[in-house]
Amino acid sequence: MTFNDFKFDQRLLDGLESMGYDKPTPIQEQSIPLILQHKDLIACAQTGTGKTAAYVLPILNKIVQSESRKLSTLIIAPTRELAQQIDQQIEGFSYFLGVSSIPVYGGGDGNAFAQQQKAMREGADIIIATPGRLIAMLTSAGSVDMSNLQHLVLDEADRMLDMGFYEDIMRIVNYLPVNRQTVLFSATMPPKIRTLAQRILNNPEQINIAISKPAEGILQQAYLTYDANKVGLLKHILNEKKHDSVIIFASTKEKVKDLNKELYRSGLSIKAFHSDLEQAEREEIMRAFKNKELQILIGTDILSRGIDVDGISLVVNFDVPPDPEDYIHRIGRTARAENTGTAITFINEKDQRKFFDIESLIGTDIPKLTLPQQFGESPLYEPEKKLKKSFNDKRSFKGKRNNKPKIDNNRPKQKPQ
Ligand code: AMP
Repeated sequence: MTFNDFKFDQRLLDGLESMGYDKPTPIQEQSIPLILQHKDLIACAQTGTGKTAAYVLPILNKIVQSESRKLSTLIIAPTRELAQQIDQQIEGFSYFLGVSSIPVYGGGDGNAFAQQQKAMREGADIIIATPGRLIAMLTSAGSVDMSNLQHLVLDEADRMLDMGFYEDIMRIVNYLPVNRQTVLFSATMPPKIRTLAQRILNNPEQINIAISKPAEGILQQAYLTYDANKVGLLKHILNEKKHDSVIIFASTKEKVKDLNKELYRSGLSIKAFHSDLEQAEREEIMRAFKNKELQILIGTDILSRGIDVDGISLVVNFDVPPDPEDYIHRIGRTARAENTGTAITFINEKDQRKFFDIESLIGTDIPKLTLPQQFGESPLYEPEKKLKKSFNDKRSFKGKRNNKPKIDNNRPKQKPQ
């Protein structure tokens, strides 16, 4: 399935392309058609599954097709950080659409409050708000007109209830038109979420994305390292302790071939596994690996699914996999059938955000080991900074974006030129 199958507006497809989104994730495949059909929806999905785009994309498409464009969408999120992240994603997707959004959250001074309120009144299409600040806005003098609202999204609803926002949400809903589409996303579905859903959703559809979790027996570790040290570090790990069977994953075929040569030259029992090999060669390599005649296999993600070899005690991710689910598949090559194994991932500065998405998906902070002394200092782990950077990188896509006006969070964004 591709994003074209949803028959999205071409400008939205252009935005997706510029963000590097090739194909929808499972939650997107399921929720986008339902939201496009104006259904209310309860979706059980966690951070890392692509849940934000799962509701943002169909809503953006509906907004551009709609005649009446004044404040049509309210997204409520538990924290300022999430509200900012959602706003940034909307900004990326809607770059060619001219849809405006504004994040509304607490903190800042009275001035910020007044500016956010003014911006809301001046006609942003989408507001992304934390509950407390939104209540303050709605109840203060000169409040915002919500009468045109068509879409309400509650993101991370379970977390909002854990933070004690139930009453606030119910109060906010009282300000909204009854005739609207309501979409609720939650990582878990405790009874209180069901109660909330019964009160504010209308005959909702339900989606449950069961996410795979890494097996208990896998010891997950990571090194923060610069690219220049990765090969040396890999050799160090392979020589430090004897493993019967090891799988190494790298991101491209070229890298797999280069690393294979390098490690073979240093005397290791290793072979590369990639799509350029003939079927017979692949089978022979796999046979030797299964029989423990070959110690190390190095490959791309082609290796990560379906290989059922017992006794793999070490998996090394030479690069962070691009998709969090791929991480789970890759490290699932070890610790099969109740065995134990170790999975080590090398994280360069550029991949920190991807690794953070993996940690979010599996709900664990993976320990970052200190580099052996000869490899010097590790880069700091600062995935949030990398998020901003990669976002800005994406914005300069096709060189079209250099004229973009500077974003002021307190004002609705300008239409792209
Ligand atoms: P979320 O679950 O919304 O927090 O998204 C997790 C990460 O996956 C974010 O960095 C998104 O930008 C990214 N993402 C979401 N959907 C896709 C997709 N279809 N293709 C590529 N990346 C995606």
